[in-house]
Amino acid sequence: MWGFSVTRHDREREFVSAARPQDRLLHHYEQRLGEFGDSATGACWPNEHDRQTRYGVMLDLIDAAPHEKLVLCDLGCGTGGLLAEIRRRGLQNVEYIGIDRSPGALAYARAKFPDAAFLELDVTAPDPDLRSINCDYLVANGLFTGKFDLTHEEMWAFLVTVIDLVWPHVRRGLAFNVMSKVVDWERDDLFHLPMDEAAQLLHRLAGRRVRMRADYGLYEYTAYAYKNEDCRVPVLRPRLPDADMLLPYLRRIDAARIYTNHGPLSSLFEKRLAEHWALPPDGVVCASSGTAALIGAIIGSAGRARKERPIAMVPAFTFVATAAAVQACGYDPYVVDVDADSWMIDPERLSHHPLLTETGLLVVVSPFGRAVAQEPWTKFQKSTGIPVVIDGAASFDQIELCPSRFAGAIPVVLSFHATKGFSTGEGGAVTAGDVELAARAAQALNFGFHGTRNSETASINGKMSEYHAAVGLAELDGWARKREELEAVTARYRLHMGKVGLSDRFIATPMVSLAYALYRCRDADDARRTGAQLDRAGIRTRLWYELGIHRHSWFSELPRDNLEVTDSLAPGLMGLPMAPDLTDEQIARIATICAEAANAAESVR
Ligand SMILES: *Cc1c(COP(=O)(O)O)cnc(C)c1O
Repeated sequence: MWGFSVTRHDREREFVSAARPQDRLLHHYEQRLGEFGDSATGACWPNEHDRQTRYGVMLDLIDAAPHEKLVLCDLGCGTGGLLAEIRRRGLQNVEYIGIDRSPGALAYARAKFPDAAFLELDVTAPDPDLRSINCDYLVANGLFTGKFDLTHEEMWAFLVTVIDLVWPHVRRGLAFNVMSKVVDWERDDLFHLPMDEAAQLLHRLAGRRVRMRADYGLYEYTAYAYKNEDCRVPVLRPRLPDADMLLPYLRRIDAARIYTNHGPLSSLFEKRLAEHWALPPDGVVCASSGTAALIGAIIGSAGRARKERPIAMVPAFTFVATAAAVQACGYDPYVVDVDADSWMIDPERLSHHPLLTETGLLVVVSPFGRAVAQEPWTKFQKSTGIPVVIDGAASFDQIELCPSRFAGAIPVVLSFHATKGFSTGEGGAVTAGDVELAARAAQALNFGFHGTRNSETASINGKMSEYHAAVGLAELDGWARKREELEAVTARYRLHMGKVGLSDRFIATPMVSLAYALYRCRDADDARRTGAQLDRAGIRTRLWYELGIHRHSWFSELPRDNLEVTDSLAPGLMGLPMAPDLTDEQIARIATICAEAANAAESVR
């Protein structure tokens, strides 16, 4: 045998001088290995069958998708038995790192797997460099089961020390086994640990993401701790201007001591936005939210509901704010369906609607920021006499692609909520080529005041504060860069979706706003399955418009047309995670899981 007798002398010497309990442990393991060689007995397991069972239980730690690439660290790997099991199972996605202190065991392991990484490392050494164990999952199989001549306290201290040391280097989760307390008799040379103590240790590290398994027929249990915060991907992780970008504007607020009521910053913000879209200088009115801006635009164009025309038509496929705003202006919402391709209401189809004679307002929604062309709605407004407002909440970045087509006489309302691509935290704007309409909207958003303190119209307080305008100005300053980042994320999505054959199901800019990465599922079942599979991997998704406004309790009794398009569209159009700093690895993972869900569905068919 290689290695053993050559290094025996060194190890004996080491042992004699060593005071640390873990060195005594090592000594016992090395003795056993010397006596029995590379076998279950040599590794202090009673038999080969039990050893195989444990490998399975350890691999059960992995909660990644079946083919997702991951790094597994095997702490106390011994002669590499776990790697043999990984190879036997054909888990090609697992990159394995074996760590042990025993040169003898490592020599066996390296001889069996010359291509694998086996490192000699004492994680409890003074000031160790533990970067080599950085991994997604770490298992310590049998490292804490035998205590030999150590006291219970020494063994417990060793366990806690090791787990605390390795935990920061683990991205997703770890597992270890110890002997059970629920046995007829305890062996003095084994480490029997009450489950509660293991649970408390793991709870301190992993909160409630702790699991215990004692169902595999041995006198031990395996404890698992998961660290999902690190790899959890929220559906949207907005990033607004940071404190440094805001500071110059905040200093201007300090100097001017004007905090709201059309102060210098909100005026500047409006001017810059108007330039951005080539609108007249007074064609943009800021608001405290997109919903407030909707109310301003409605009062400025159609006014509050009148008895003769109490209805406001709204599409079913939108965020609830659309219907909430028309109700706030006194209208009875009537819900109409959208077109299957444009996802918007269609002026042609609507122009024959029997209820038009009772309709005083029509709100067209730009779904997921898909910009609404002005021209057909200008015509519609002219021929029916019904004022039209475009709820273009998420369409900032779409309108800027072609302002002449999307901004004009019909007011377009924007939301600058944190979930939209261009954002001030909370905020919104009415944009209108018709500056008189814009002025009426501004009046409606400021108690009906216009020049004097006399309230002349229906109104709310929907003004944008100077603080939000500061964020808006800083957002404009950094917008070109943010735009590029979001476009780059979309490009990476396209690439990875293409690689897994899902290009035709992926929808993003320029078709919709930069703020969305949409995945078109086959149907509601497919969406549920895909969503659940992503969720298990810590990846969040969202049906941004839920199942349509008519499926919300408050709006469920609203009169409506047949909504078959919305009913088939909404449950399957799923929002995938989006953020300017979404990593390539995260996107690849999302694409892989989507593909797996799609393939699983395919094979069921
Ligand atoms: C976000 C959104 C709104 C509401 O905007 P807030 O700024 O949140 O009030 C309205 N309509 C649609 C379609 C939206 O997406």
